[in-house]
Amino acid sequence: MAARGVRRVGNPLALALLLLVNLALTFAYAPLSDASLRTIPSGGSDFDIHNGALLSPILIPRVPGTPGSAKVQEHFVSFFRDQLPLWTVEWHNSTSTTPATGDTLVPFSNLIFRRDPPWAKTGDVSRLTLVAHYDSLYRPEGFIGATDSAAPCAVLMHVARSVDVALSRKWEAEGHGGDELEDVEETGVQIVFLDGEEAWVSWTETDSIYGARALAESWASSPHETNSVYPNPLSSISLFLLLDLLGDANPRVPSYFQNTHWAYQHLSDVEGRMRKLGLLETKPRMQFLPEKDKNANQFTRGFIGDDHVPFLQRGVDILHVIPTPFPSFWHTMDDDAEHLDLPTVRDWGKIVTAFVAEWMELDREMALGLKGREDEGKDEL
Ligand SMILES: [Zn+2]
Repeated sequence: MAARGVRRVGNPLALALLLLVNLALTFAYAPLSDASLRTIPSGGSDFDIHNGALLSPILIPRVPGTPGSAKVQEHFVSFFRDQLPLWTVEWHNSTSTTPATGDTLVPFSNLIFRRDPPWAKTGDVSRLTLVAHYDSLYRPEGFIGATDSAAPCAVLMHVARSVDVALSRKWEAEGHGGDELEDVEETGVQIVFLDGEEAWVSWTETDSIYGARALAESWASSPHETNSVYPNPLSSISLFLLLDLLGDANPRVPSYFQNTHWAYQHLSDVEGRMRKLGLLETKPRMQFLPEKDKNANQFTRGFIGDDHVPFLQRGVDILHVIPTPFPSFWHTMDDDAEHLDLPTVRDWGKIVTAFVAEWMELDREMALGLKGREDEGKDEL
């Protein structure tokens, strides 16, 4: 970051001032500039339900352990391999019986795509963790689950793609960070596609969130190497941002948790600013995230059962982005491609991208847009 500049300064006072500025820049959560917000892409036809590159391959039944599930896994893996090769892929596999399948062990595969600062040790990185489930309901047969959660998965693919160049640019500019300021926090981002969220018969503690339960347990019990900043992958999660049931028009997403209300406020702020700048397609009467001014005494202990629960129980900070009420067609055959409101899906893509770009402190890099990157590429040739 400013490390290279620091070395050129001879005056001790100026050096101290620069270090202070540098510290402030490092730790401040700064909103994206309007210029950066304007560069955030909508994804356009990639969200087309018939042949869009991101969404359409997910709009099939994808019950755990079936060929549809395998196809969607392949869609994620090939997308990152071909378009975002700097993201690592990790499979997390488990098996379980279910009340619908008797003694048969059903396989559940979570997929984790991750980008850390290239110089950072695995155990030293705190990670913004973006989560959606990709499995679909076992019954009714043929259920698609377009909002539950095909669209949220496609939104996360779009987010990854939209911040990828800016991340490279930032980390290339910083070089080996932390040599002058050793306590600078290393910040990475990971996208977790969870399997087995749905109950097979009816929602209970043991018949639901199969993939999330296995992953939380595994991450909590896989220690990082000694002297790591974070003892295990679970403790490396700075925020668990879970998207679910998104893609219906006019969603109303409350702020569920007081301890992460500050993060909700950032997400809501980003939405409000993008609306004012005319950058979103939808024109709802209320914001998607309307509870920015919720008071501390308005929070209750109630929450919606979902993939975050085993992480919440282990003390992870959760931002649950799920509408209340649920879409009217929730868990019916009408939760299909045709019932998606694509402007809403694309707006979610933009809002979450902006939030991630702020979290990862990519303002300067986003403002350069994608064009600069292409020019950089030409220079190298
Ligand atoms: Zn569901």
